[in-house]
Amino acid sequence: MNIAIDGPAGAGKSTIAKKVASDIGYVYVDTGAIYRTLALACIRKGITADDERNVCDICKNTKVDIKYVDGEQIMLLDGENVNAYIRSEDVSRMTSSISVYKEVREQLIDLQRYIAEKENVIMDGRDIGTFVLPNAEVKVYLNASVETRAKRRYLEQKDKGVECSLEDIEKDIKERDYRDMHRDIAPLRKADDAVEVDTSYMTIDEVVMKIKDIIKEKAE
Ligand code: C5P
Repeated sequence: MNIAIDGPAGAGKSTIAKKVASDIGYVYVDTGAIYRTLALACIRKGITADDERNVCDICKNTKVDIKYVDGEQIMLLDGENVNAYIRSEDVSRMTSSISVYKEVREQLIDLQRYIAEKENVIMDGRDIGTFVLPNAEVKVYLNASVETRAKRRYLEQKDKGVECSLEDIEKDIKERDYRDMHRDIAPLRKADDAVEVDTSYMTIDEVVMKIKDIIKEKAE
């Protein structure tokens, strides 16, 4: 069985999906990390997001891979573990800009489908239920207001000791939402057969319970 969780940045997808996966013994696949790894490769090579040809070249000539160590997803860029470098706001911005390109999406989708074929997965992203795994048995669309999502990201960054402003984060999130929802290929949208869960006023545990209920219902 495969479970697709889509939604905008900061809706809680990764935290929730990771917990549910560990509770039910599924493999958690964070597809954002796959796009982020390629974005990091572009930043390291000094390529700007609007330089489609060079971005696509990097995509063709770079090996993005995943391995799992004690249940943790490790992103490999040409064999190097880059988990520590893919969460910055710079990488977030670059990622949403390069993920509009058709070649980039085509190149990275095979890895996602390959894992889902081999394992029972909970996969989170933007186009999992609509495009990557259209036949996923369970589809959830996690949502929350922009204000809530920005505040969560702000607190997360502050916790890590990263200097940031709430206004900047909210602006960034709005821009990413717009790009993700309005791109030509596989834009972010709720799949027709997905269950929408608004997490704005829910605790993590409540959302985890809700998703496990949805899975149980489907399994029955
Ligand atoms: O989920 P995360 O915030 O890590 O995703 C970063 C960016 O990667 C998103 O803003 C989106 O542009 C892109 N992405 C995508 N398709 C996915 C997952 C992520 O386009 N399945």
